[in-house]
Amino acid sequence: MHPYVLDGLTVLFPFEAYQCQVDYMKAVVACLVRGQNGILESPTGTGKTLSLLCASLAWLEQYKILNAELNEAPVQIIYASRTHSQLAQVVKEFKSTDYNRMKITVLGSRDQLCIHPEVKALENSSDKISVCREKVRQKTCLFHRNFEMTKPEVVKLPPMDIEDLVKEGTQKKFCPYFAARELKEKADIIFMPYNYLLDAKARRIHKINVRKCVLIFDEAHNIEQQCEDAASVVISSLDLAGCLEDITKVMQWMIDSQSATTAPVDENDENNVDANALSVTQDQICNLKLKVVKLEELLDNMKTTKGNIPSPGDTAYKWLKSAEIDFNPQGDVQHLLDINQFMAARSNTIFRSNGHSLLKLSEFIETVYPLDENGQPLFTLDMDAQRKGVFKVYLEEETSNNEQRPSIITAKRPKKLHYWCLSPGFAMRQLCMQNTRSILLTSGTLSPIDSFKAQLAIPFDIVIQNNHIIEQNQLFAGILPRSAGNKHLLTSVYRTRQNPEYQEALGQTLHNVIKNIPGGVLVFFPCYKMIEEVVATWKNNATFETMNQRKRVLIEQRNKAKFESQMKEFNTIIDNDERGAMLFAVARGKLSEGIDFSDKSCRAVIIIGIPFAPHQDRRVVAKRHYLDENNRGNKDAMSGDTWYSQQAFRAINQCVGRVIRHRRDYGAVLFFDQRFENNKDKLSKWLCPYVHTVDFTGMMKGLKDFFAQYSSISTAEQSTRPIQQAFFASIGHITTTSKSSMQQAVSSEDIFQTTIKQSIKTTDEDTSNKSNLVHKSLFDAISSTQRTGPTVALQNTGTDDKQRDFDAMLEMKRREATRVESLPRKFFRTTETFEDNSSILPSNTPTTSVANAKTSEYRELLSQLKAAMSHGIYPRFTHMLQDHKTHKTDREIYLKLQTVLVESLAKHHPKLFMDMARHISAEFRQEYIQAGQTHSPSNNAQQTLTVLSSNKRKDVSSPSDQDMPSPKVIKSGQSINPFRCK
Ligand code: SF4
Repeated sequence: MHPYVLDGLTVLFPFEAYQCQVDYMKAVVACLVRGQNGILESPTGTGKTLSLLCASLAWLEQYKILNAELNEAPVQIIYASRTHSQLAQVVKEFKSTDYNRMKITVLGSRDQLCIHPEVKALENSSDKISVCREKVRQKTCLFHRNFEMTKPEVVKLPPMDIEDLVKEGTQKKFCPYFAARELKEKADIIFMPYNYLLDAKARRIHKINVRKCVLIFDEAHNIEQQCEDAASVVISSLDLAGCLEDITKVMQWMIDSQSATTAPVDENDENNVDANALSVTQDQICNLKLKVVKLEELLDNMKTTKGNIPSPGDTAYKWLKSAEIDFNPQGDVQHLLDINQFMAARSNTIFRSNGHSLLKLSEFIETVYPLDENGQPLFTLDMDAQRKGVFKVYLEEETSNNEQRPSIITAKRPKKLHYWCLSPGFAMRQLCMQNTRSILLTSGTLSPIDSFKAQLAIPFDIVIQNNHIIEQNQLFAGILPRSAGNKHLLTSVYRTRQNPEYQEALGQTLHNVIKNIPGGVLVFFPCYKMIEEVVATWKNNATFETMNQRKRVLIEQRNKAKFESQMKEFNTIIDNDERGAMLFAVARGKLSEGIDFSDKSCRAVIIIGIPFAPHQDRRVVAKRHYLDENNRGNKDAMSGDTWYSQQAFRAINQCVGRVIRHRRDYGAVLFFDQRFENNKDKLSKWLCPYVHTVDFTGMMKGLKDFFAQYSSISTAEQSTRPIQQAFFASIGHITTTSKSSMQQAVSSEDIFQTTIKQSIKTTDEDTSNKSNLVHKSLFDAISSTQRTGPTVALQNTGTDDKQRDFDAMLEMKRREATRVESLPRKFFRTTETFEDNSSILPSNTPTTSVANAKTSEYRELLSQLKAAMSHGIYPRFTHMLQDHKTHKTDREIYLKLQTVLVESLAKHHPKLFMDMARHISAEFRQEYIQAGQTHSPSNNAQQTLTVLSSNKRKDVSSPSDQDMPSPKVIKSGQSINPFRCK
């Protein structure tokens, strides 16, 4: 473990941390120590989850020690992520920390945790809840009874994720669902999906008390929408009619069962149910029915919303009040739930309906009038006022398939009442008002941060936006405003989207561009309709067919099962077909997050247009109107237009995040729309410096050169590129391959021959640019090990293996968690290869011609050194040598290198030791030789060294061995982008 002292707190990190990880942990510690809220953005692959866990758990551990004397409720960390598979990944990372002895639990639903065969088999989640509750009430679930009896052992369970808990519960026959809830009481850290935290109803059901807690929302890029959805609800006349039917049936059953008690009991009668099974009295159920009838009448008489401008949110509250709904925790909501529970448990016998409509009404009441986990109303007077402003009611006529079915009471057309929360700040403020200690929101894509902060409407005192850890030569990013051949403006605005000329030009451009991209390509469109339209056009004019020959084209499946098999097909193509595959998808769709497309699975993301939400969508209209109203009263408040645009760009940033998935990944991001030229500032901060506007020719050439850097390396080796590059460049592979790629491109004929020829015409100037690119990339690769300065670099060398292991671990976990088919074989090859090719070359790398002359000698030397040095030493040594060459007169650096060489070589490999003398700077060379002689205990070795040193003395000082010619050096800050900037 590596200790870091941050804000006076020692954080133990499993590896030597990157600077961005240290910065990130600092921000986390600052938030927790000061009790402040934070927004923490750090791109994918920067190890933010591990940093977050280590920093927050270190703080909690210290806090518990310092406050051990106080007799207070324990302070807990609540860690929320979007899905359970993401949480499972976080739990795995937790286990790798030094804090893994701390107590954890993972909360899940009965869908994930129930092991009762009958309940598990139910399809509907709400049926599972109702039937389980009924079984628990009647003490008929064996697993729950066992749980009650074994509680003391259950609370001692070691940290486990949901899968492990289910296994444990199945083996020992206790209920994992209730076990997780029990473990929550004493847990230091509670993991849960974030709707459990944002939704007041869920907090109450799961008894989640957030007072004094640290709340962490990981993958928080969608949290605005989640906050709004958690506080929004809809109900229709049909739901109310369903409630009435269910209540009437139960009333009838009550009457029947009463008369049955006076008649002889028929054992075979399925209606013969214990009258005590229902906890609602006849009076209560009659009252409830009257209230629902009233609700239905009132709803039928309400006017539908006109002109897309909804009514104030308190309309819903007044509606419920007018029907005399009892908001008390033991009032109407409880009665609705009891009846539903009763019906669901008997749905196979006396009741055909499962009582789902009853649940809908109870959910509606609870959303409009939320209670805290103790059953107290969450609304203060102030909050009530907020409800008036923040919520809107939209009433429309029902347009579902059941629209013919009129209201039971009035026979009018059914209506639907939408209760919309239009400010994510509402849910956030609710949390804050319960005295949370800190709320941390983190993700790879939270930009634009200003709008994010403004929308959430709580103070965020600490904001960090980390840069990526990749080098400049790992990403190629360009905006293409005009199509192939410069013929058409590329813009997917609504009026041009269906224009056949635009569609054709887009198809030609895409077809040409993918020629210069290896592996997988993800193409994101604004909506499914656009994909359908362009694909139809491309199928008509043969573009689709030719594209498909160049790269297998797949179109995102909307059906979940089909989508999963499509991902398998995609991965199979990527692994087996050199051409690779291209996947058409929509922004905000299944592909835009949650699936890992690392390495060759995604070498490019292409963004077609800007994915604005449908501008006529009623909720979007209402939201923009709400923001504009606020903006009229306060010019600093965000306008509807700004929000609309920023939402679209956040979706784009999310798509772009698919391309670089770890430190050694590389790829291209292409924007096929001229509107990006004026909106670069809305892209993620780490991406902005890479993005330039290019013409089609520039893009083709840029892509070719960019991927040519990597094309001479086998697929398995590609992710090790930044360091390997120095080695490959020195032996001339890159130059050779670039040339052959160019020739190949020029000779390739196809239906867009004219365009392509025009685009890849190679001028003298181009050739020189290409050559520069190779050198620039080489310089970048070499400088990647120098940037942190001599001392830091030397420290890093000792841990680089570990850091690679860390990258490897993260990568493996990502694959396990998200990929339909894991690719461990490839992954392990990658890590092995990296070590094999760590660059030995000094910073003063020779030009290609000199390097060619030295190639075999270097190769030989490299393999001998690797064989001679023990495992793990060799990569450290290559870095040390690099540092030594950069800082020739730095004695401290030299001495570290000398120590490694003496210990590894002097005794058993004196010849190799002396061969290395020529790589020691002249200033220390004599000292180096003497150190070898002194430290070699064997007489034979000393003699050999003495002989060799006398032979070598001339050699090492010969002019040919003086500092080698340097490659062309790019000054710091100089752009390496090969594009022709406009
Ligand atoms: S108590 Fe547990 S095992 Fe039994 S039905 Fe409920 S969730 Fe399932």
